[in-house]
Amino acid sequence: TDSPRPTLVLVYQRASLPWVFEGAERAGIDLVLVPRPDEAVSEDRLPPAVVELLRLDIEADRAGALDALRRRYEQNAFQGVVTLFDPAVPFVAEAAELLGLPGIGRDAALGAQDKRVMRERLAAAGLNVPGFVRLDRPADWAEAARLTFPVVVKPAHGFSSLGVTKADTPQSLKSVVDEVWRTSEGKLGQVDGLVVEEYLDGPEFAVESLAQDGAVRILTIGYKGDPQGPHFEEGVYRAPAALPEAVRDAVLREVTAAHKALGITDGPTHTELRLRGGTTPYLLEMGARIGGSGVSHHVVSGVTGIDFAAQALRLAAGLGAGLPVSDGLPAPVGAAANYIVPCGGHGRVTAIHGLDALRDDPRVDHVVQMLFPGDVVRPYPDFTGYPAFVLSRHEDLAETEEFHRFLERSIRIEYAEVADHGHEG
Ligand code: ADP
Ligand code: CA
Ligand code: CA
Ligand code: CA
Repeated sequence: TDSPRPTLVLVYQRASLPWVFEGAERAGIDLVLVPRPDEAVSEDRLPPAVVELLRLDIEADRAGALDALRRRYEQNAFQGVVTLFDPAVPFVAEAAELLGLPGIGRDAALGAQDKRVMRERLAAAGLNVPGFVRLDRPADWAEAARLTFPVVVKPAHGFSSLGVTKADTPQSLKSVVDEVWRTSEGKLGQVDGLVVEEYLDGPEFAVESLAQDGAVRILTIGYKGDPQGPHFEEGVYRAPAALPEAVRDAVLREVTAAHKALGITDGPTHTELRLRGGTTPYLLEMGARIGGSGVSHHVVSGVTGIDFAAQALRLAAGLGAGLPVSDGLPAPVGAAANYIVPCGGHGRVTAIHGLDALRDDPRVDHVVQMLFPGDVVRPYPDFTGYPAFVLSRHEDLAETEEFHRFLERSIRIEYAEVADHGHEG
């Protein structure tokens, strides 16, 4: 008799972002998709590998969502539950724990998702951590005035840099804390605390890893620019990064030790760090998931040839990825990049120049367009979303840099003025 195909519940993945769906197809895994409540996914046009939709609202009714998952499991068992959406990582870890499925466990998920807990655990393990203060109420802001300025103020449960703001002086701290609390409430729905931490001066990098039974395999290190604030929009991602061997080894050691400190023994991780003073790695955060809604798969597969999404999904289904454990990074087979088109203004979008031609460019894998003519971009620090991602592959790092210089020149968004930028409601 045929054994049923392994099945994973995939929580809150946008159907328009293809990498993880295609990875499931290659891994021979069926997906039960839990669509984002704000995304319309129709039963007759399902993404690759999706065999079923399961509608849950894990934010509005967490207990009900857990219950519905359990009922689905009892009717027809699945092998795992997984997400790439950072705020859903604790829910997924809890669901897996309750159902006895593979996962990192509730406690490790908390450390990876709550920036206060993450900082405390990294510091307790003796890793490189900037001076920081956790604020559980905005009224406590003065406790952070003793830090060395500039500092960065951010929501404990933030993602996509939402609300993250630099404060240059102790005099500006109160108003920045109030603003971050207020704007984060607006954008994230609910805020239960902030972290204030010393500004880490130095270039930024992202590290993609896969862990199995406590063995951490670091796959790629990529350059993420050198954003100076006061707000931190995402920009470029180019891998592999050019780093001196000693710095690269320090990054590998720090990231490996961070997995241990946070108790992340299995599955993919996406780590962001800055090299303080250009040499010493300080983690910004570690996400217990494939990064960038799947962009990390594009980067890892382009640089190493490893099918990151398929491997990670197989791990999530308890199928064992079979990645060889070795020291050091896999030898690169190419270069990969992501370019996030900057808004470059605000108002009503009237035209986006330079994107269409890219769809036929042999270097380009995908253009993911999220803003279109007619959409309104609010002025910063309000965040409307990124206009587009351009994912590309190249022979080497120099070609990624040249391509990004070309994109900087060729992509341009035109705006018309909008009378009122105020919030509704
Ligand atoms: P999020 O989860 O919202 O992405 P991060 O902690 O990754 O929050 O912060 C978003 C961005 O803000 C980082 O990518 C980095 O550019 C900047 N940033 C955050 N904390 C610091 C810091 N302590 N020093 C310098 N830059 C920081
Ligand atoms: Ca994050
Ligand atoms: Ca981040
Ligand atoms: Ca970032």
